[in-house]
Amino acid sequence: MNQIDNYTIEQIPQYRRQFIDYTIRRFFSTYFITKWPIDCVQLLDVISSNNSLSLQVGTVSNVSSSFDAISIYNPESHDYQIILNKNKINYPFKESRDRRLNFTIAHELGHIFLDHLSISDDVKTTDERFIEDLEANEFAGRLLMPQSILLNCNFYSLEAVADFFNVSVSALTTRIHVLRRLDLLTLRKSVVCRQCGNTERSFFSKYCMICGSKWQDNENGILKTYYKGIEVNNNSEALACPNCCDDSGCILSSNCNKCGAVIINTCTNEHNPHCDYHSTGNGRYCEICGSKTEFFKGGYIKPWYEEQPELMSESIAEGSL
Ligand SMILES: [Zn+2]
Ligand SMILES: [Zn+2]
Ligand SMILES: [Zn+2]
Ligand SMILES: [Zn+2]
Repeated sequence: MNQIDNYTIEQIPQYRRQFIDYTIRRFFSTYFITKWPIDCVQLLDVISSNNSLSLQVGTVSNVSSSFDAISIYNPESHDYQIILNKNKINYPFKESRDRRLNFTIAHELGHIFLDHLSISDDVKTTDERFIEDLEANEFAGRLLMPQSILLNCNFYSLEAVADFFNVSVSALTTRIHVLRRLDLLTLRKSVVCRQCGNTERSFFSKYCMICGSKWQDNENGILKTYYKGIEVNNNSEALACPNCCDDSGCILSSNCNKCGAVIINTCTNEHNPHCDYHSTGNGRYCEICGSKTEFFKGGYIKPWYEEQPELMSESIAEGSL
């Protein structure tokens, strides 16, 4: 594999870019990829155990230090192999240089899924092989750092964002260059919950209203995430009962007059008996004392970790260029 650090997307012919779009979409749906970051070591297991393709992974150690990995296809048996340089495997990934392996594997998967291996290298020109490496890099970039996910990140440091995506700082920098989004690096930093990615909070918030963790030392999260809730008015009263969905005017009382459910998202006072804080409709925890809210305690809104991200894999893949 050749790491090409400076390339522009125009170097890849238009029809091949469309093929990469199509291939990555199919890849996401075949292997059920909906969450980031991606750990390619685990992904290799998923691919090997899925019977849509026969893939083995091996290592070699007596090779030059410039060798990272190679992928091989056997046309008789239709088997694919990825061979990695054992000396370069430092897994689980801890530092930026260890995470290089994640991109290396994604790059080799690019060669396999973009069908570069069905024609032997011997009959390709140097230029053709160069373009194939660009394509494999583009595949790896889109797989590990989809544009739509990248654009939702809080760029408070390059290292932290690279760490989030499980890639080296140089792989992240290249991706940002290719997308021509250097502006991301200078965007104003936001306060993002490190645990759940929530960015909504009131001025005096002490606890994250979505996951309940303390904001203190927990503000440098990477992926900004929006969590849904119940529609409420300015006084935190549900527009319709969150339990029986009746919208025929139980608004003047604090309970639904049909089913008795609490319809105002106030603090349940688990931690502070005097707290009277009113949360927004998606608040799971009181921002002031950290107690559960009525809507969360009543089971009308799900815990944050059970909620599916709103971005679907299809739209993620379409970060078209
Ligand atoms: Zn390559
Ligand atoms: Zn949170
Ligand atoms: Zn009701
Ligand atoms: Zn409270």
